[in-house]
Amino acid sequence: MDCLFCRIIRGEIPSKKVYEDKETFVFEDINGQAPTHVLIIPKKHIVDIKEAKDEDAEIIGKLHLVAAKVARDRKIENGYRTVFNVGPGAGQSVFHLHLHLLGGRSLAWPPG
Ligand code: 5GP
Ligand code: ZN
Repeated sequence: MDCLFCRIIRGEIPSKKVYEDKETFVFEDINGQAPTHVLIIPKKHIVDIKEAKDEDAEIIGKLHLVAAKVARDRKIENGYRTVFNVGPGAGQSVFHLHLHLLGGRSLAWPPG
């Protein structure tokens, strides 16, 4: 499939891998916005949260647990943020579900 993140999972496009298991893949965002900015993605191609099905509930939960594990490993548990940008109006630019994990600096609220 000609999807950027599917190609990253397959190793056809290089990435800085942080973690991988049977169902998920984690890599450094190419345009990091914080000392930690990684993307947690399902190996299954899901377009976005709007397109997700009931059967995807488990993997969506897993993305959050993997984010918590990476945050623990990076020692950023004092304050981090997990984000799905949903739709172009919120800045979504890649249409393979991805959870942003940002941390390692103070994070303003509300976000821009
Ligand atoms: P979105 O804007 O869809 O929420 O997030 C997409 C993210 O993917 C952006 O933060 C962008 O920097 C990142 N990104 C886009 N292309 C690549 C790439 O080829 N490699 C990596 N590592 N990150 C990418
Ligand atoms: Zn994909």
